Amino acid sequence: MLSRSLSCLWITFCLHLCCFVDSGEAQNAKEVILLDSKAQQTELEWISYPPNGWEEISGLDENYTPIRTYQVCQVMEPNQNNWLRTNWIEKGNAQRIFVELKFTLRDCNSLPGVVGTCKETFNLYYQETDSEVGRSLRENQYVKIDTIAADESFTQGDLGERKMKLNTEVRIIGPLSRRGFYLAFQDVGACIALVSVKVYYKKCWSIIENLATFPDTVTGSEFSSLVEVEGMCVSDAEEEADNSPKMHCSAEGEWLVPIGKCICRAGFHQKGDACEPCGRGFYKSSSQDLQCSRCPAHSFNDREGSWRCDCEDGYYRALSDPPSVACTRPPSAPQNLVYNINQTTVSLEWGPPADTGGRNDVTYRVICRRCSWEPEECVPCGPNVGFSPAQSGLVDTYLSIVDLLAHANYTFEVEAVNGVSDLSRTQRLFAAVSIATGQAAPSQVSEVIKEKVQQRSIQLSWQEPHQPNGVITEYEIKYYEKDQKDRIYSTVRSKSTSATVNNLKPSTAYVFQIRAFTEAGYGTFGPRLEITTKEETTAAIVSSEQNPVIIIAVVAVAGTIILVFMVFGFIIGRRHCGYSKADQEGDEELYFQFKFPGTKTYIDPETYEDPNRAVHQFAKELDASCIKIERVIGAGEFGEVCSGRLKLPGKRDVSVAIKTLKVGYTEKQRRDFLCEASIMGQFDHPNVVHLEGVVTRGKPVMIVIEYMENGSLDAFLRKHDGQFTVIQLVGMLRGIAAGMRYLSDMGYVHRDLAARNILVNSNLVCKVSDFGLSRVIDDDPEAVYTTTGGKIPVRWTSPEAIQYRKFTSASDVWSYGIVMWEVMSYGERPYWDMSNQDVIKAIEEGYRLPAPMDCPPGLHQLMLDCWQKDRAERPKFDQIVGILDKMIRNPNTLKTPVGTCTRPISPLLDQSTPDFTAFRSVGEWLEAIKMERYRDNFTAAGYSSLESVARMSIEDVMSLGITLVGHQKKIMSSIQTMRAQMLHLHGTGVQV
Ligand code: AMP
Repeated sequence: MLSRSLSCLWITFCLHLCCFVDSGEAQNAKEVILLDSKAQQTELEWISYPPNGWEEISGLDENYTPIRTYQVCQVMEPNQNNWLRTNWIEKGNAQRIFVELKFTLRDCNSLPGVVGTCKETFNLYYQETDSEVGRSLRENQYVKIDTIAADESFTQGDLGERKMKLNTEVRIIGPLSRRGFYLAFQDVGACIALVSVKVYYKKCWSIIENLATFPDTVTGSEFSSLVEVEGMCVSDAEEEADNSPKMHCSAEGEWLVPIGKCICRAGFHQKGDACEPCGRGFYKSSSQDLQCSRCPAHSFNDREGSWRCDCEDGYYRALSDPPSVACTRPPSAPQNLVYNINQTTVSLEWGPPADTGGRNDVTYRVICRRCSWEPEECVPCGPNVGFSPAQSGLVDTYLSIVDLLAHANYTFEVEAVNGVSDLSRTQRLFAAVSIATGQAAPSQVSEVIKEKVQQRSIQLSWQEPHQPNGVITEYEIKYYEKDQKDRIYSTVRSKSTSATVNNLKPSTAYVFQIRAFTEAGYGTFGPRLEITTKEETTAAIVSSEQNPVIIIAVVAVAGTIILVFMVFGFIIGRRHCGYSKADQEGDEELYFQFKFPGTKTYIDPETYEDPNRAVHQFAKELDASCIKIERVIGAGEFGEVCSGRLKLPGKRDVSVAIKTLKVGYTEKQRRDFLCEASIMGQFDHPNVVHLEGVVTRGKPVMIVIEYMENGSLDAFLRKHDGQFTVIQLVGMLRGIAAGMRYLSDMGYVHRDLAARNILVNSNLVCKVSDFGLSRVIDDDPEAVYTTTGGKIPVRWTSPEAIQYRKFTSASDVWSYGIVMWEVMSYGERPYWDMSNQDVIKAIEEGYRLPAPMDCPPGLHQLMLDCWQKDRAERPKFDQIVGILDKMIRNPNTLKTPVGTCTRPISPLLDQSTPDFTAFRSVGEWLEAIKMERYRDNFTAAGYSSLESVARMSIEDVMSLGITLVGHQKKIMSSIQTMRAQMLHLHGTGVQV
C-alpha cells in the first residue's frame, strides 16, 4: 500500500521531471552512441524482474519531447531484488564502453517509516554475449560494474521547492571481447528514477593534418593507451622522405602527437588541406619546394602542374642543370686563334668566345687532323700526337701539340664547349687553322733486339722510329763498356736497321744506344740496352795471350785480304758494272770497321752485255706474292703505274708505286723498261727515289718503287699555288739539290732534270726520279729534236748540251736553275709561251728568266748563277746545297724586299746587260726590250731619264697611252727589274 502511495509520490515527481532533467548536452563529437534511452520515444521494453519491480513510464523533457524512463521505489518492503535489463547492445569495434546514467534517488530520511528497508544505492551489471540471449535473466551471469550511489538525493522539501537533483554517473567497462552485451540495474530497495541511460564509446574522427588523411579510429581499450595511426597523403601529395605521417588516437578520442607529414609533389603546391597544380608559365621542380616558381629565362610551359619548363628552340639544359636555372646554348667559336710552329710542335692560343651561351662552364677542345696536300683528304691525327696540357676539357685558352710529323699539313679546330654543347644539333662552331710543320729530327729508336751475341761481337737490330720525320739515312750506335771507369764511347753507323758491333772484349758488359739521322739531324738516343759478350774459350785465350804476334799477323792478313778484295771488287765492279748486290749488303759492315773513303760510282747498265744481269746486279728480285696492287695512278711509257703495298718477310708493309710492263712487249721494250730499275737500284739517297725491287720472273714484269704520295712536283705546285712558305719551298729545293749532289758524286748525269721528274712524298720530301738513258728523253713530252740530233727538253737544257750534246753535271746544274724557277713560281712554264727557237735564241743573246713573284733576290741570284753561259762558272751541287742550307739557317736572307721580285710578265733578264743603268737613254732601253715604238710617248710625258722611268707605276705606264695589256706588262716588268737592280747593284734608292 505504502509502496503504491510512494509510487504516486513518484509519479508526481515524474510529472515534473521536465523541471530537472538537464537540458541535454550537445553530443560529444568524439562519441559513438550505442544506446540512448532518451532518444527512443516508444517503449523501451527492457526486461524487468520481478514484474512489480522496475516500471517503465513516460515523461517529457525540457522540449516537451516524450522520453521513456524506469523507476522503482519498493522502500517499504525488505529484501528487495529488482532487476532491470536493457536490450542487447551490439558494441561494434569498441573495446572500452562508457555507460552514463542519469537518475534521481530519494533520500531515505525523507521517507517516513522506511528505516531498515530503504536503500540509497543500486547496482550496475553487465553480461557479454555474442548475440541476444532471450528474455530470461540469470543473476549469476552478470558481472558487477559498480554500486551506484547518488551524489545528491532529494527530499520531500526539495520536491516542494520543485528542486530535484539529477545525478549523473559514468562508468567504464572493458575491454570487451564479445560482439555485444546487456546492462542490468539491480535495485535492493531504493527509490530511483532512471532518467536516461546512454551507452557509448569514443573514437577519433577522421581528420586531415599536414596534408595526410587520418581515418576514423576507435580508441584503445585502456585509459592510457594511444592508438598509432598512419596517415594517407591527400591527392598530389607524397610522404616526406623518412618521415611518414602518423598520429595517435587517445582514449579520450583526441588526436595527439602528430609525427611526419605529406608534402605536395612536384608541379603542385599546397592550398589549405589540398595540393593544387602550378599554373601555366610556372613550375615546381621538387616536392621540397614550397611554392611554384615562374619559368627561368629561355624556357616556357603551357600546361598546368609542371615540374619543369621546356627550353626554347636552340636552348638546352645540361643533365646536371637544375630546372631552376635558365636554359642555355653552346658557346660561339673561340676568337683570334693564333698559332706558332716550332719544328713539329704547334702552339695554339685563342681568346674566349664572344658568347658563352649563358654558362660559366666553357672549356675548349681541339680536333687535330692531318691532311694530305689535297684539302679534302684529312684524317684524325691518331694517338701518337701529344696535347699539352690536354686535348679537351681545357680551361685555359692555349695548348701545345707535340710529336707531329715533320713536313706535314695539319688542320686544328678549336671549339669552345659548355655543358650543353653535346646536346645541340646545330652546326659546331669552331676556329680553325691549317698549318704545315717544319722539319724535325726523328723520334727515338726504342725497340732494339740483340740478334746474336758472340765473344767479340754483338749483332743488333731495331725498328725504324715511330716518327722518322723524313728519310732516315743513317743510324748511329753508341756503346761503351759498362764497368769502365773513364767512360769512353764508341760509335758505329749503319744505313739499315741492323748492325754488328765488332772488336768487343769477351765477358764484358756493354751499354748500347741508337739514334736515327735524317736531313733534319740526329734524333735523341733511345733507351740504354745492356748486353754482355760471351766468355772466351780457353783455346782462344791461350792462343791470344801466348802469341800476340799471331793476332797482329792475323789481323794484318785479314785486313789486307779485305782491302785487296775491296780494291779488286771495285776494279772488277767497274768492268762488270762495278757494283754488286753482295757488296752493297756487306757495305755497312765494312763501313764501320774500315771506313774507306770514296763513293760508289754509277755503272751504266748499257755496258752490260746481258742487261738482265745488270737488273739482278742492282735490283732485288721480289716475290710477286709480296705485292698487292691497289689502284692505277698514272700511265707510263711501258704500261700502267699503280699504287699498292709491299710486305717483305719480317718487315713492315710499305706503300709502293708499281710500274708495270704492258703485255705483248718486245725484248727491247723489256730491256728498256728494266733499265730504269738497273739505274735506280744503284742509288741510295733520301732525295733519290728508292727502288724496292723488280719482278722479272713473273708477269706482269714490275718495277717497285717507294710510293710518293704527292706525285710529280710541277703538278703538285700548280695545285697548291701560293700555299707554301718560302722556307718550305727552299726546303724542297735543298732536297732536290742534295739528291743531285749525290747523283753527280756518283758520276750520274740526269739530262732531264725538271720539276715534272721530281716526285714529292707526303712529308713534302722531294726526290729525283725518272732515270734512264735515251728512253727518258724519248719519254719526255718536253723533249724536241734539235739541230744537233736527238731529243732535248730545250727549256731545261744548257746551251752547250743543246748545241753539241755536252751533258755533264754542270748541264744538270743549269736544269736545276730552271727547276728552282719552276718551284719559286709554283709550276709556271719556263719562258711561258715562247717558242723553243725563241728560247734558244734569247738564251744565246744573254737573256735569262726574271725572278718569280715574291722570290727572294738571293734565290734568283742563285738561279742566274746556274745559268752562267760558261759551265765552269756554274756552282756545283755541293755548293748549291751549302748556299741553300745557309739561307734556311738564316731566314732573314729569304725576305723579299718590297717592290721587287714581282711575278715577271715577260721579257727575260738580259745577262749581257745586267745593269740597267748602263743604258744611256730611255730610247736605248726601249729598244732593248723591243718596245721602241713607245719612245715618243715617254718623251712627250717627260720621262727623259732611266731614274724617272724606274719610278713609274703601272698607272703611269697606262697614262702614256699604252693600251695593249701585254705591252704594259712587258714594260712594267722591265721597270721592276731595273728598279731591283738599281737597288741591289748600286744601292740606288728608288722611291716608288
Ligand atoms: P713515269 O712513267 O715515271 O713518268 O710515271 C708516270 C706517272 O706515275 C708519274 O707522272 C707519276 O704521277 C706517277 N708515279 C711514278 N712513280 C711514282 C711513285 N714512285 N710514286 C707515286 N707516283 C708515281
